[in-house]
Amino acid sequence: MFQGNWKCSGCGATITELPFEPRSTEGLKCRDCHQKSRGDAPRQNSDRGERKMFEGDWSCSGCGNKISQLPFEPRDTTNLKCKDCFQKTR
Ligand SMILES: [Zn+2]
Ligand SMILES: [Zn+2]
Repeated sequence: MFQGNWKCSGCGATITELPFEPRSTEGLKCRDCHQKSRGDAPRQNSDRGERKMFEGDWSCSGCGNKISQLPFEPRDTTNLKCKDCFQKTR
């Protein structure tokens, strides 16, 4: 185990031990969050099989990234957010 003083990017808990030496201290996750992200992510994607996606040429109001697909049809295109920015605001 590697000892240190890191911070979990998920819940903010202090991490003092890691089974590996982190190359970057950004995006570190404590054991709880690591397990959560592993268990949830694939389920969310596979469960709802075919979700209709709307294609278009929008841009994110947060970071300016291009958005080419949305799970809904946007009524107001001036305040759209990409997936990353959307998750940050939650
Ligand atoms: Zn955590
Ligand atoms: Zn964005």
